[in-house]
Parts: sequence; structure tokens; C-alpha cells
Amino acid sequence: MTAKFHTMIIGAGPAGITAAISAKRKGNNVLVCEKMPRPGKKILISGSGRCNLSNETLEDRYYNASSRHLVRSVLDRFGKSDIVRFFEELGVRLYTEKGRVFPATNQASSVLRALEIELERLRIPLELNFKAERILEDKGAFTVASSDGKRIECEKIVVAGGGMAYPALGSDGNCYKFAKQFGHRMIEPVPSAVALVIKDRLCHILQGQRIHARARAIIDGKSLQEASGELLFTKYGLSGTAILDISEPISIAKNRLSSKDVTVYIDTVPFLSQKELGEELKRRAAKNLKREEILVGILPNKLATAFKDLLNGPDSDKMALKLKEMRFDVTGTRGWNEAEFTCGGVDTEDIKGASLESKKKRGLYFAGEILDVQGQRGGYNLAWAWASGYVAGLTE
Ligand SMILES: Cc1cc2nc3c(=O)[nH]c(=O)nc-3n(C[C@H](O)[C@H](O)[C@H](O)COP(=O)(O)OP(=O)(O)OC[C@H]3O[C@@H](n4cnc5c(N)ncnc54)[C@H](O)[C@@H]3O)c2cc1C
Repeated sequence: MTAKFHTMIIGAGPAGITAAISAKRKGNNVLVCEKMPRPGKKILISGSGRCNLSNETLEDRYYNASSRHLVRSVLDRFGKSDIVRFFEELGVRLYTEKGRVFPATNQASSVLRALEIELERLRIPLELNFKAERILEDKGAFTVASSDGKRIECEKIVVAGGGMAYPALGSDGNCYKFAKQFGHRMIEPVPSAVALVIKDRLCHILQGQRIHARARAIIDGKSLQEASGELLFTKYGLSGTAILDISEPISIAKNRLSSKDVTVYIDTVPFLSQKELGEELKRRAAKNLKREEILVGILPNKLATAFKDLLNGPDSDKMALKLKEMRFDVTGTRGWNEAEFTCGGVDTEDIKGASLESKKKRGLYFAGEILDVQGQRGGYNLAWAWASGYVAGLTE
């Protein structure tokens, strides 16, 4: 038997759940299908389990997208105060830390539970273990067929199947086929907010060590992005928030454009200027300290020892420069299993900004990470998922 609905949502992640809620609040008969045995798996791991669900400075300038205009249109319809109101109405109290918005419980699971309660309260059917496999069309209506032969008829479809990051949690890029089916152009997806692969002895020796640093991405001689924060040495290269924050242009360069000349410069002593560091090194050298002792108290002991070879000249300004501009050649990035989100996806030029309806197919909508919209880290990606989901669910 074929069930009939006004709106069918493919994917019960943050975008799909908010799309279902807005569709039902508007009075439409809606169903959400989800290929996993439970909804919102990525919500649970977001923000290291704390769920950084939005940002105080939610504006289109914090996003990269094939159409920034589309991001602006969506945030104009459902922006930062709407997101806050949405969650507060669900009973989720929020607080802000350095601009990042979190639930007061610091528990991603309480955000998901509140969303599930709203789905239940609105009596929105959630079809779990339903992997949408095909979309068929007949006389202006759609039928969505699952991989195990179930069929659901509907007038509108919101595709919210996510991107390719963390495929074990459900989104593995399989929903791109629905965009391609209707002639949508794709921007090649590459992993973003991802660790870097660097073949350097230092990374190997220092694996597990963390410092506060400033990282800069230089691609084909151009400085493209920089960020301060934690830097983590790993056995395969570099990670930590400073690296994740500069990883997007690097991933595009390496994984999409196959650029050869991709380097990262690390300022290992960001709290001192080069001049101050040079003077400090000179003072320390005058005390006849051993080379492995000179950096003690400036850098963690293991780094002070590992960097001793950099301190083998008479010129302390040059030594300071080496510590302020430590160069690493990037050979690649880690893969989808370790990326926080997707850069690329369905080209937003083919999507109507005000409604997120496809320009290629009436009644077909897209929301969330499946679109070529990527926010900076700090709550912008979940904010995009809630906002775009809510707008797409209104299906005008
Ligand atoms: C480790 C990690 C931490 C993160 N932390 C944050 C954070 O703190 N703040 C922030 O803003 N962002 C964070 N993000 C990013 C954020 O989680 C995503 O951008 C967001 O979840 C995207 O929402 P979505 O609904 O578009 O897609 P998803 O969350 O990927 O949901 C898509 C859903 O569709 C389902 N699906 C896929 N294909 C089908 C199909 N064929 N049929 C039926 N269902 C299907 C999937 O199983 C999945 O449940 C984090 C991501 C990761 C991986």
C-alpha cells in the first residue's frame, strides 16, 4: 500500500527535523523518513556533546556558498533570534559563551530530546530505517521509494539528507543523486574542518602535544586564512581547532584543485612579538643555558627539547623568526570519517533563495548540509541546518 502525505522530508537530522516541525505547524500533513534506527545522530556528537547550536553573530558573511545571497534570504526569514525563540519555545534554555550559543544543560542529548518531544506532540510520523532510494514522478505528485520497497506519495519533498562528513552517522552523500536526477549542478564535495596530513619528523616526535598557536594557510603563495587556538601534533600531521579553522581552503586546494604548493605556517609563540621573543632568547642565551633549556617556560618541555636544533645560531632574531614562522608542507587532509562538515554540495545557484525550492523541479526543496553552504566553526553549521530546514518546510 502507498501512504500519502503533503510533504515528505528525507533525513531526520537537524535540518529535516526543523523542516518537519515548520511544515506541520503550517498545517501540512508531513512525514519524515530516516535511514538510521534513530534521528539526529549528529546532533548528539556536536560541540563535543555540548551542541554549539548557533552563534550570536549569525550573518551571511560567516558562510561560504555558491550563492551568499541565498544564505542571506534564509537568515532574513529565520535568523538568530528566531532560532533562539524556536528552542526556548521547546523548553531548551540557552546560554552564550564567547558568542557561541549552547543549551544551558550543556547536553546535546537534551536538544535532541526536546526536538523529539515536539515531533511527538505534533504527531509527526517518523519512519525510521527507511532509506529513500528513488524519487518517482507521476502527474505532478512524487513517490519516494525506500531501499526495501516501501513507497510514500507526496506533493512536496524536502531533501535534508546531509553531506558526507561522519558517514557512520548516516549522511554519506547518497542524497546527492536526487539533486542530480533533476539536473542540479554540484560543487565537488571535500571534507572541511578536518586535520591535515604533513610528512614531518617533528609532528611524529611531538604527537599528542598541544600548544596555543596561530596557524596560517598559504596556497600558491597567497595567504588565505589564519586562526588562533589549540594546535595538536599528531602522528600523521597537525590537528586542533586552529588547524580545523584554516582547513577549508587547504582541503579545496588539495582535494578539489590538486594544488601542489600548500603550506601552513605556525606561530608557536603567539603571545610574544618576534622582537620580544628575540630579546627574550638573547637574555636566556646570556645565562649560559643549554639549548634544550632555553625555551623552557615558553613552550611545553617536550617542544623545548624538540626545538633545540632551531636554536643553534648566534642570531636570536633569526631563531625567533623560526619559532614564529614554522613551515609545514601539507600533503593532504584526513578523510570524511574525521571531517566536521562538507564543503561543496548542491549548487545554490539552482535553488530559490526565499523558499529553498529547486529552480529545476517544482515541489522539490533542499535544506541543510546537502547544499553548498558552509559556515565557519562556532555554531554556524547547525544554525544553517535549523534555519534552512525551517524555511524549506514552509514549502510555498
Ligand atoms: C563531530 C562533529 C561535531 C560538530 N559540531 C558542531 C557544532 O557544535 N556546531 C555546529 O554548528 N555544527 C557542528 N557540526 C556540523 C553539524 O552537525 C552539521 O552541519 C549538521 O548536522 C547538518 O545537518 P543536516 O540535517 O543537514 O544533516 P545531518 O545531520 O547529516 O542529517 C542528515 C540525516 O539524513 C539521513 N539520511 C541520509 N540519507 C538518507 C536517505 N537516503 N534516506 C533517509 N535518510 C537519510 C542521515 O542518516 C541523517 O540522519 C558538527 C559535525 C560533526 C561531524
